[in-house]
Amino acid sequence: MKTPSWILAVAAALLASGTALAQQSGPLPKVRVLATGGTIAGAQASATDYGYKSGAYNVDSLLKAVPNLDKLAVITGEQVANIGSQDMNDEVWLKLARRVNEVLASPDADGVLITHGTDTLEETSYFLSLVTKSDKPVVMVGSMRPATAISADGPGNIYNGVAVVSDRGARGKGTLVVLNDEIHYARNVVKTDTTSVQTFRSLNRGPAGVVHTGKIEWFEPMDRKQGNASEFSLDGLEKLPRVDVIYAHANMSADLIDAAVRNGAQGLVVAGVGDGNMTTPALDALTRAAKTGVVVVRSTRLPAGIVLRNNEINDDQLGLVASGELNPAKSRVLLQLALTRTKDPVRIQKMFYEY
Ligand code: ASP
Repeated sequence: MKTPSWILAVAAALLASGTALAQQSGPLPKVRVLATGGTIAGAQASATDYGYKSGAYNVDSLLKAVPNLDKLAVITGEQVANIGSQDMNDEVWLKLARRVNEVLASPDADGVLITHGTDTLEETSYFLSLVTKSDKPVVMVGSMRPATAISADGPGNIYNGVAVVSDRGARGKGTLVVLNDEIHYARNVVKTDTTSVQTFRSLNRGPAGVVHTGKIEWFEPMDRKQGNASEFSLDGLEKLPRVDVIYAHANMSADLIDAAVRNGAQGLVVAGVGDGNMTTPALDALTRAAKTGVVVVRSTRLPAGIVLRNNEINDDQLGLVASGELNPAKSRVLLQLALTRTKDPVRIQKMFYEY
């Protein structure tokens, strides 16, 4: 019996998409997975339980749950931490970043995939994008549902994440974040929803690309410094300077600003109202802090938009820095690294334009 032509057409299309997926001919890329915990490694008592514990599974169990990973890459895994990312801190950042640089410097890895909780993914990814010294791909994934959930999103995100690490187009793009079929630049991406799987967005610019079951489309390139172009480095860096974020609101007093300075903050980021504004007593306290050498960055508590320099507030006169596109969490990361280079607000403002 003759095979119907539509079956032949479907088979040809499937074969073609298989070829597109494998993309690179020759040996499979070598991908190192660094696991740090989060909901992606989380477990409930049963699949319909509401509560769960982050960071319950290790890296091998995470990888075992993903079908056909071995067709995309040769994967090896290691555990760097196993925490909910709400507990992420400078120490783990430095350890993780050092490990990423070591792995990428070795011929045994063509790229790195990092599993991470979603709460602080936007900060860790931005930090890594500024201190990674390699053009090899670094991709971070997480999930909104624990590994044991009905319709867990972790395995799909890991599969897509490995596909992106294995893609030549990911080289030189800095740290990327892959969740829910979207690829984002670390600098731009923010978590926007407490529970939805469509939570990571690049609100000002849109995603870097999309990925559907391993098939990738790239959009716009990144025009800001990162990776090899970044001046920041881990060399000799034992500790990061303390930078606090303070949230602005109606009737804001100077108290929390003064307390942060008393407690040793070398930098302050204000999650300002509107275009990085705050009450007069708060602005006076920040100006006083800036005069004593604390670097003050005005960001915004709004989800999108650009904090403009010298718009409603005269930053030149008061010695302040405007965050531009960076939200408070990302401003804090850049300010921590900037303070390892200089305390000059004029130079730091330039960095906020460049990174
Ligand atoms: N609290 C979790 C974490 O950030 C949430 C998640 O991973 O989705 O680790």
